[in-house]
Amino acid sequence: MRKPIIAGNWKMNKNCKESIDFIQAVAAKVPVADKVETVICAPAVNLCCMVKEQGSDLRIGAQNMHFEANGAFTGEIAPSMLTDIGVEYVVIGHSERREMFGETDEIVNKKTKAALAAGLTPIVCCGEPLEVREAGTTNALVDEQMVKGLAGLTADEVKKTVIAYEPIWAIGTGKVATDEQANETIGYIRSVIAREHGQDVADAIRIQYGGSVKPETVAGLMAQPEIDGALVGGASLDVESFLGLLDF
Ligand code: PGA
Repeated sequence: MRKPIIAGNWKMNKNCKESIDFIQAVAAKVPVADKVETVICAPAVNLCCMVKEQGSDLRIGAQNMHFEANGAFTGEIAPSMLTDIGVEYVVIGHSERREMFGETDEIVNKKTKAALAAGLTPIVCCGEPLEVREAGTTNALVDEQMVKGLAGLTADEVKKTVIAYEPIWAIGTGKVATDEQANETIGYIRSVIAREHGQDVADAIRIQYGGSVKPETVAGLMAQPEIDGALVGGASLDVESFLGLLDF
């Protein structure tokens, strides 16, 4: 049985006070961690104070990190800097980072390995732009993203990784993939993982859907057999809406 994982991706939103106020409002209301893993991935400057307020069932994640351990990488954050302050998750290869900051599958792979080596749970994103969906080549693209992104990982490392399938045309647009579309592509991603890393790994790895998920749509997605959770941007920014996402 795969444990559901719901993660908020705040992107470049909320200052320190807003983050603390939010955490204090939700920390005691999130479901027990044995049932649902609940994570908020926030801007790096706010992570330290958020960890202190997270309570026992809420976990904190970063949205990015560098793959090197330290050195002359101005503006970057090392994996151990995240674990040192109690951060437990990190989003890797979000489509916004791929599109706007030039992250390739090779960089995603290095970051995923570095995150796992540091003891972080990577949430590795994949997904297709609209033209790929319309051309009918979504499976080929996510196949390549998964093969390259998870190359060289051990079976145990892949099992610890979380995948987020986020069709780019559904991110922040209000256009949600249908439950069946999301389930079908996530099923395909699971088959790629079975082919590359073995069936037991594919059965264990958790794969989220992301892209305009709302409290009203989360239950339908979560009822699909292949979908193990959601990575949520806009609807994770408001306290009531965030708590609604956990009530599926
Ligand atoms: P959205 O963002 O829920 O606002 O569409 C999802 C994401 O980019 O992770």
